[in-house]
Amino acid sequence: MPLSAPPTRPLPRLTGLLSRPGVALGLTALLMLLGYTLAHRLSERSGREQLSALSTERLELYATNLAAELGRHAYLPSLLAIDPAVQALLQQPADPARRAAVGQMLARINVRAGTTQIFIADPQGQPLAASEPLTPPVRLAEALAQQRDHFFAADPATGSSDFYLLHAVRRQGLNAGVIVVRFNLAPLEATWVDMGLRSQGERILVADDQDVVIMSSVQAWKYAVLDRADAPRRAALQASARYPQELGPDLDLPASLENHQGEQVQLPLPGSRPLLAQQRQLLPLGLRLVALSDLSEVRRAARQAAWGGAAAGASVGLLLLYLAGRRRALRQLFLAQSQLQQAHAQLEQLVDSRTAELRQTNAALKTQIAQRLQTEGELLQASKLAVLGQMSAGLSHEVNQPLTALRALARNSQRLLEAGRSDAVASNLKIMDDMVERMGQITRQLKNFARKAEQVTSAVSLQDCVNNALLLLEHRSRALALQPELALPAGLRVRAEANRLEQVLVNLFGNALDAMRNQAERRLRVLAEPLEQGRRVKISVQDSGEGVSEDQLPRLFEPFFTTKPAGEGLGLGLVISAKIVHEFGGTLSARRLPPPLGGMSFEFDLEVETWHAQDAVESKDV
Ligand code: ADP
Repeated sequence: MPLSAPPTRPLPRLTGLLSRPGVALGLTALLMLLGYTLAHRLSERSGREQLSALSTERLELYATNLAAELGRHAYLPSLLAIDPAVQALLQQPADPARRAAVGQMLARINVRAGTTQIFIADPQGQPLAASEPLTPPVRLAEALAQQRDHFFAADPATGSSDFYLLHAVRRQGLNAGVIVVRFNLAPLEATWVDMGLRSQGERILVADDQDVVIMSSVQAWKYAVLDRADAPRRAALQASARYPQELGPDLDLPASLENHQGEQVQLPLPGSRPLLAQQRQLLPLGLRLVALSDLSEVRRAARQAAWGGAAAGASVGLLLLYLAGRRRALRQLFLAQSQLQQAHAQLEQLVDSRTAELRQTNAALKTQIAQRLQTEGELLQASKLAVLGQMSAGLSHEVNQPLTALRALARNSQRLLEAGRSDAVASNLKIMDDMVERMGQITRQLKNFARKAEQVTSAVSLQDCVNNALLLLEHRSRALALQPELALPAGLRVRAEANRLEQVLVNLFGNALDAMRNQAERRLRVLAEPLEQGRRVKISVQDSGEGVSEDQLPRLFEPFFTTKPAGEGLGLGLVISAKIVHEFGGTLSARRLPPPLGGMSFEFDLEVETWHAQDAVESKDV
């Protein structure tokens, strides 16, 4: 399937950059850092928002709680002011009976209302009647002077801050006295401590108008200074008699605390953790309610979220890396494919050009072969002519001899006829007829041999061919007093063309005769042996001639290789013979014969048409 071209547009340079391991790692680290920071910020912000919302709610609750606690007895002074016994006392403050009666009533009411103390004082603050014996607080005179309706004061006996409610009773436009209800906030504070213990994360403080903590869910912070107090201020505060004990440490909170969002603060105390500070003013009472929430949980959650963010960043980085890698792989694949296509196209081009070259070479070869064939044909003819030339001497001898004999016989016959010896004439004529027949045989062979052969094979009698060939060379074999030995089945017919087979045999026999010319023992053998279960036959022409040397053996079938003197050999006979045998489907080869023959054996194979098995060895005189 062909690949579509990879998108060329987005970020090829980024892909390149990402393929560098350093850049890839750097980018992943950057994304991790980004994810970490982002997740940390978001989580912390949302955690703080949640915490501050919760804290605001709580603060509201505490404020309501405190206001309700403080307002619980607000009715009591004004109610007492209209009491007849109280009014009577204020009319005659020096009357001990009235003082005692009112004192008893106040004691009862004090118990019923659950307040700490109720007393009635003259305009200077001296007690007239009280629920129990008492020393009025130092701040009473100051509060009366300032016409306040409440104040906090420390009780040195219990060490707690008490809340005082004041109600001035006026008679004919003048201050007749004051009704004071005192109660303690310790029970409320105890519930806060309890809640603070249960919820470690939240602390609540109530500071008075001097910014000193008068109530706290953390006992150690009680009477601490909300902001920072230098030595003179501390001394002044301590001297104000508002606080029952030594002032606590500076909490160092900012002067104005944001109400809704809150502010992160760190108290200057050992082991203090970051806190979210929020405040609420209780204006009518001149108090500040401060809530301090622990931010550790928010921070821990933020850290967890941050690691999550880092993991997400790393994932994005890895995804980018993967995408870049994939894109690079696709590009490489595409590149490889286009290179392959290019190579394929080049190869095709090469093949085309090579094919064209081959076609040309082929055509040239065909032309050469045609020329060669023509030359070979011509050579064949030339070789035949050469053989004819060689034979012509013997031939003239062969023909001249019978002609001379014929002439002598004819003359002799004439004289015999004149003498009336017709029987002798008849005998002469018979001899003459035989001689003519013999000459006719020779000329027929010559004619056959000289004729250009046709390329048609047929079933040919091997024995006939051998005999014909021997006949052509008969004069030479006779001259050498040679008697060929033939071992050929009489009925053996091979697939060949008679004339050309005879040409091969004439050539082989001629060579054998040449080789034996100077030998003392001359033997020529022609053998036929079956091959391939009689489907083919091996024909061997063996002589006892001088043979060839080992070096010459491989060169025998080279054109124009000859050892014969100039004018006698062309060196073509074996070449042409081998070619003819090849055309018959066989192979001509030569080997040196060991003694007793010791000459050469030329062997070739032919396809057998019929055997008509007659294995008798026929010897024939030539
Ligand atoms: P030519 O007979 O014209 O020389 P051939 O091709 O027929 O050409 O023979 C080539 C050579 O092979 C001969 O010159 C001869 O040296 C060697 N030769 C062929 N037949 C024989 C043989 N029977 N015995 C020894 N040498 C042979």
